[in-house]
Amino acid sequence: MGSRLIKNILWLLLGVIYLFTVKHEDSVVFLDVGQGDSILVQKGDIQLLIDGGPDEKILYELSKYVPIYDRKIEYILLTHPHDDHLVGLLEVLERYDVGEILYYPVCYDNENYRYLLQNYDNFREIGQGDTIRLKDMEIEVLWPVLNKKEKGCVPQFNNNLNNDSLVLSFEFLGKKFLLMGDIEMEAEDVMLRDGLVDGEYNVLKAGHHCSSSSSSETFLKMVSPELAICSAGEANSFGHPSSETLQNFSEYNVQYLVTYEKGNIQIK
Ligand SMILES: [Zn+2]
Repeated sequence: MGSRLIKNILWLLLGVIYLFTVKHEDSVVFLDVGQGDSILVQKGDIQLLIDGGPDEKILYELSKYVPIYDRKIEYILLTHPHDDHLVGLLEVLERYDVGEILYYPVCYDNENYRYLLQNYDNFREIGQGDTIRLKDMEIEVLWPVLNKKEKGCVPQFNNNLNNDSLVLSFEFLGKKFLLMGDIEMEAEDVMLRDGLVDGEYNVLKAGHHCSSSSSSETFLKMVSPELAICSAGEANSFGHPSSETLQNFSEYNVQYLVTYEKGNIQIK
């Protein structure tokens, strides 16, 4: 055998040994999936995976936190059906046994969304006021309102699908989390007006990859997070995260972390 082959086998063995050392750990992980969102909430051996990023990278990142013998993901949640949140979930659905798919049945015509809806049947529709239970922990859905369907789906809030993102809040690990999906200012304003977001949070997953159309100053003042997470790919074509938003964070004493700089951001 050549020494190169031996080296490769050794690396492979090390990789396998590493995978077997992964244990369940209570945590929230903002996964670095490039340009997209994916957040793993793990409580004991129960997982909630919120979005899956744009491609199969999610599988590799998940394997760093979900033990190799645990092939069940109890819940996956699609905040909204844009590809940078949805496509990775399709990969997860193929390779894991998924308990329930939680989603907000918004009207949107997209090939991957259609594929999801046509090929699976373990859905639960959720909206404002619903809760997701992970053992004794409750995750609250703050937005959007699950209005009446027209032709099988709920019309968009203002013809901007980002504003139909599921917004989640919960307390875990001694911290209050607020996950905004791709929400932009129009929906933030309504949430503030209606008192849906009316307190302080420790960790904010800032809306829409920290673009300048999200995280208004009024919103930041109300939420006053200690830490904001920007889930974004390097040098992305939309200019996320926006320098304006990052400046606002600094102005309001909000520390921030960007996934393409930090890699996976685990809070435990
Ligand atoms: Zn997005």
